[in-house]
Amino acid sequence: MPSVTYERGLVQVGDRTYAFLQPDGGWGWSNAGLIIGNDEAVLVDTFMDLRNTRELLDSIEYATDRPVRNLVNTHHNADHTWGNQLVEGARVIGHHRCRAELITGTQPTMLAALQNADDVDGPLRYMKEAFAPFDFNGIDLVPPTVTFEDRLWLHPGGIGVRLEYFGPCHTLGDIVAWVPDERVLFAGDIAFIESTPLVWEGSILNWIETVEALIALRPEVIVPGHGPVSDINGLRSMEAYLRHVVSEGAKLKEQGLTPLEAAYEIDLGAYASWTDPERIVLNLMRLWLELDGQRPSTRIDGIDAFGAMADYKGRLRAVP
Ligand SMILES: [Zn+2]
Repeated sequence: MPSVTYERGLVQVGDRTYAFLQPDGGWGWSNAGLIIGNDEAVLVDTFMDLRNTRELLDSIEYATDRPVRNLVNTHHNADHTWGNQLVEGARVIGHHRCRAELITGTQPTMLAALQNADDVDGPLRYMKEAFAPFDFNGIDLVPPTVTFEDRLWLHPGGIGVRLEYFGPCHTLGDIVAWVPDERVLFAGDIAFIESTPLVWEGSILNWIETVEALIALRPEVIVPGHGPVSDINGLRSMEAYLRHVVSEGAKLKEQGLTPLEAAYEIDLGAYASWTDPERIVLNLMRLWLELDGQRPSTRIDGIDAFGAMADYKGRLRAVP
């Protein structure tokens, strides 16, 4: 793996592959990818707002004069799609569940209104603080117009890019962009490195299986959705976190605890130093649903989840 420092900006990770990194990888601070073919460039994801996406696109202009004709969205979350409108002339490609979730999900005007609200407390205060660095004005949602089910290859010239779906993980419609010629994997939010992974609608159990499938590809470079550029070891430590949450959580659920009660009982050990450790509560909410046989599409109430995470974070702060 090339040694890549974790600093904001565009970095080269292979002969024709780049990543734009946004430390510290916490709420909204995602990474994007770029593959430069002989004829055109492929962009993997945009950012949470227009200002950050403009910076991404400006840096691409320095790296290549090839036009971005295809923009891949690894999933529907705002921090990967809300800058789509700025990639003019590009076709937007994603999983069909990504398109559906983007169209029906959170609207930018909701977060803009929250930023302007006074005296919010609990879950709304947590959300307001988490997304305070971003500007939600002027955003028009641009969903994928080309969608697929399992696999799709892109051929930008002299290099191949394989888009692949492994089932619900972090969301219902996560895909990766795999560049086998360079063994570079743009994993989107199927990979969080040194940043706590989280699952909304999706499957923590299938996520663990998916990590195994990604490791089997034998990637040399992994560009995660959040956190520094890594390799298989980074994927393995994220998998170990997910397995820890499942094994400890299952025992505590047997004892009749709620996800929040269980979160307080679980020793995070070294994982406590990853950004946003309070996401364990959300992960346990999903695990409880999965262990009860609920489908990955069963909704978790966002306000409930942010409220429980705020509670957990508050208690972490209170510990001397
Ligand atoms: Zn993300």
